[in-house]
Amino acid sequence: MNRVYNFSAGPSMLPLPVLEQAQKELVCYGDTGMSVMEMSHRSKAFDDIIKQAEADIRDLMNIPDNYKVLFLQGGGNTQFAMVPLNLYKKGKADYVQTGQWAKKAAQEAKKWGDVHIVASSEDKVYSYIPKLDKSMFDPEADYFHITYNNTIYGTRYTKIPDTGNVPLVGDLSSCIMSEVIDVTKFGLIYAGAQKNIGPAGVTVVIIREDLLGNAKPECPTMLDYKIHADKDSLFNTPPCYAIYVAGLVFKWLKQMGGVAEMQKVNEEKAGILYDFLDNSSLFKGTVVPEDRSLMNVPFVTGDDDLNAKFIKEATAAGLVNLKGHRTVGGMRASIYNAMPVEGVKTLVEFMKKFETENK
Ligand SMILES: *Cc1c(COP(=O)(O)O)cnc(C)c1O
Repeated sequence: MNRVYNFSAGPSMLPLPVLEQAQKELVCYGDTGMSVMEMSHRSKAFDDIIKQAEADIRDLMNIPDNYKVLFLQGGGNTQFAMVPLNLYKKGKADYVQTGQWAKKAAQEAKKWGDVHIVASSEDKVYSYIPKLDKSMFDPEADYFHITYNNTIYGTRYTKIPDTGNVPLVGDLSSCIMSEVIDVTKFGLIYAGAQKNIGPAGVTVVIIREDLLGNAKPECPTMLDYKIHADKDSLFNTPPCYAIYVAGLVFKWLKQMGGVAEMQKVNEEKAGILYDFLDNSSLFKGTVVPEDRSLMNVPFVTGDDDLNAKFIKEATAAGLVNLKGHRTVGGMRASIYNAMPVEGVKTLVEFMKKFETENK
């Protein structure tokens, strides 16, 4: 069986050299005589793995010393609750509603406080990022939440909103390390691993230290950032194997030249696909050009039967998981860091052929 080009939105492709390295070390890691899966999280070998992973992500994202990096569990959805449980003081927050994940995050935060929806793009099926103006923001809010890349709809922010003294919280689940971002513009960044970091099971949180230690009294111990920060993510058993693979991905990213180099590759890949969509007589993109994601590219033919035929034939050609999210239909190509340029070129060639055959 050959490997396919996997355009899944998540869990998604991992770099082949990472999988091969994990395969080599699967049964015996280093001189430990055991698999990372079998190792105590208190062992020297695992301590080296988690410390190295942290050092590498700090390096890759240029994370300042006054931020903690946490390796947690529970995915993006758990962060929807952890953020309000830890950051509410007065109990009010601003959210921008740019898609389903943003909406879910806001709904969860409503359980413990007042959520103000600053702006929403629901009116046009989330096909754009609303224009934000500081006069819309509540200067008294405890934090301001954005979903930086909208996985389902294929939009992304190209400018980080200036929220003044109000800490900015960013859900970067589907774009972390795909482009250079200035961490210091955020109070807190979170990302589930299964899109751009590694296997499902670990969630990365980058939090400015002054935001630690204010958890609500009813906040469960496991959902208190400070508990995890004080114990360097080893308060309880962390997702050891997922952290190990994420560490291999960080090493691979460094070998690729780091995030700035990766961004160039991602811009090239997205450019190839969007150029084709803009000139196609059959396919078209669904997002306004200025807010297009580099990671998730939704497109349609305008005909449901033709969409279904396309997905079926693409799958047979080894281009898999191109079906759009169930709430939007059509197609979506997720082209995260691990998707090579060659994969996108192959997809575009296939789309050209399909277009000719189905005109
Ligand atoms: C996938 C995704 C989530 C949900 O992540 P889980 O780890 O499945 O909870 C949240 N936000 C964004 C932007 C996502 O892409």
